[in-house]
Amino acid sequence: MRINFYFCKYLVFYFLDLEILSSPRFKKGIMQIYFLGTGTSQGIPVIGSKHPVCKSNDPKDVRLRVSVWLTWEDNSIVIDCGPDFRQQMLNSGCEKLDAIIFTHEHADHTAGLDDIRPFYFQQKKNIPLFAHNRVLENIKKRFEYIFTTVDKYPGAPGVDVIEIKNNHNFVIGNTNITPIEVNHGNLSIFGFRINDFVYLTDVKSINDSEMEKIKGAKILVVNALREEAHQTHFNLQEALDFIHLLQPEKAYLTHISHLLGFHEEVQKRLPHNVFLAYDNLIVSI
Ligand SMILES: [Zn+2]
Repeated sequence: MRINFYFCKYLVFYFLDLEILSSPRFKKGIMQIYFLGTGTSQGIPVIGSKHPVCKSNDPKDVRLRVSVWLTWEDNSIVIDCGPDFRQQMLNSGCEKLDAIIFTHEHADHTAGLDDIRPFYFQQKKNIPLFAHNRVLENIKKRFEYIFTTVDKYPGAPGVDVIEIKNNHNFVIGNTNITPIEVNHGNLSIFGFRINDFVYLTDVKSINDSEMEKIKGAKILVVNALREEAHQTHFNLQEALDFIHLLQPEKAYLTHISHLLGFHEEVQKRLPHNVFLAYDNLIVSI
């Protein structure tokens, strides 16, 4: 009994240590990319769906709405803030939020904004929101109570808005972030480059001048919806062609529909440097 007790206690500490060491908050000098969600707008499983991928027991086939948490030095930011934001903050153990950068205004990228309240209450300062002016205007309409200056409800969070313009880098911490304009169908939206990391979601096409901004990146995240073509998102082949042109060291596919298939089966068919991202995957650069 005694041996078992000590053995269990050792195991508990061992796993706690592993968890602490692998937490993005505790690594210095590198950026950690935590995939908070890798699913398309409805998430996987889709409500009420009987599709085999929606019924899968593989945790890698469960995909919350698309978002990443980035940590480097003392900085902790997320790109997009969809309807699964609260669950994603709990799943990842994120305890500090310095800013949110938005790619665009669609609900799967913005609908979780109310749930920044705990960060606002704990950090006792406004949370900066970086976005295109059109996106900021859209968010102000959807979350009018957050932005109002008249009779503001004390339970609402405080935010600062910072406009992102194309061809103008912006700074978080001491780090330059480059916006990259891409086309989500007819909607012009932003991806971002931070040093050798590029994050693009909801891309259907991209101009040559913006492609230049991506060249030389070591880690490229890009969307791949499904095999079949789609009006506003890359399908798998379009994403693979795009990656082939850019030749990053590693590429991760995200914004994935259940129609793409089982994680394990799709992964086997991908080139050696291309990976299907999955929820809670952590990558360092
Ligand atoms: Zn989307």
